[in-house]
Amino acid sequence: MKKIENNILIIGSGPAGYTAAIYAARANLSPHLVSGLEPGGQLTITTDVENYPGFGDVIQGPWLMEEMKRQALNVGTVFHNDIVTSVNFNQKPFISKTESGKEFISKSIIIATGAQARWLNIESEKKFKGFGISACATCDGFFFKDQTVIVVGGGNSAVEEALFLTKFASKVILVHRRDKLRAEKILQDRLFKNEKIEVRWNSRVVQFLGDNNPMTLKQVTLEDTKENKKFTIDINGAFIAIGHDPATSLFKGKVDMDNENYIITKNDSTETSVKGVFAAGDVKDKVYRQAVTAAGMGCMAALEAEKYIADLD
Ligand code: NAP
Repeated sequence: MKKIENNILIIGSGPAGYTAAIYAARANLSPHLVSGLEPGGQLTITTDVENYPGFGDVIQGPWLMEEMKRQALNVGTVFHNDIVTSVNFNQKPFISKTESGKEFISKSIIIATGAQARWLNIESEKKFKGFGISACATCDGFFFKDQTVIVVGGGNSAVEEALFLTKFASKVILVHRRDKLRAEKILQDRLFKNEKIEVRWNSRVVQFLGDNNPMTLKQVTLEDTKENKKFTIDINGAFIAIGHDPATSLFKGKVDMDNENYIITKNDSTETSVKGVFAAGDVKDKVYRQAVTAAGMGCMAALEAEKYIADLD
């Protein structure tokens, strides 16, 4: 086991993790960052980003994350393409172990593990996942050229995915459980203007149907909850965009969390229930969940960790 003593271990590589790394590195704390399952985080599976300040033209999510990474590297962050598999907050310095067999001995930890896509959790969804069902239009939209797909959800992600999919699919059906979207007005306007998109209001997915050999998604049964009617339509693909859950299973029972498993931090702070452990970004935020707010919290976490370490020393 390779032991690495360090000031700050940052777990996660979205805007919160990278920003924390930039600030900690510039404070001469030589932070170590373990990038996790999805290096770059959720922005690596989006396309156009129009609301991250500082760019007059539309930029691409993956590009933005590459630039953040480059900036963090250039100022002195040590990167590890690895996954943290256990943490021990009962002793100081804190011990974290990784999949590749590294052991980090850290004065302070910043948790920036973000959130993961939520699934409908019905049996037939599991069956066709990867065989017609996806949670990432950017990754898989290309496979549905001139075909019919549904997108499930009514938030920004669902509407963005539906719009994106019109570049490939001949028809996109947005399936939403209520009669009102949660998505921003500007996105809703684009959605309603797009002739390839049809919206099925008050509808929930009952079941996905298809062939077993080869595994192919062919239909979906929807229920109109107002009319209490079920009907089955032909589709080729389904994109699930119903929100996210915080990636906190590693920290269960180790820091305080709320009833939805978001890490609780002190007011106007990233301090968790364990002194020296900070949390930033979607892992602790279920209200704003924006790249720019995550980046802001990453900055706060690094500044707070810096002060914590200075007080220790
Ligand atoms: P979200 O805003 O939480 O929306 C989730 C949607 O899925 C809601 O419409 C919800 O329905 C529906 N839903 C949840 N569970 C469901 C279930 N079991 N079955 C069927 N439908 C279900 O999530 P999001 O769209 O992923 O967005 C997350 C955050 O990221 C938001 O703050 C959003 O603003 C942000 N975001 C921003 C951008 C951007 O600014 N360009 C892009 C993407 C995401 P109800 O409406 O009925 O609750």
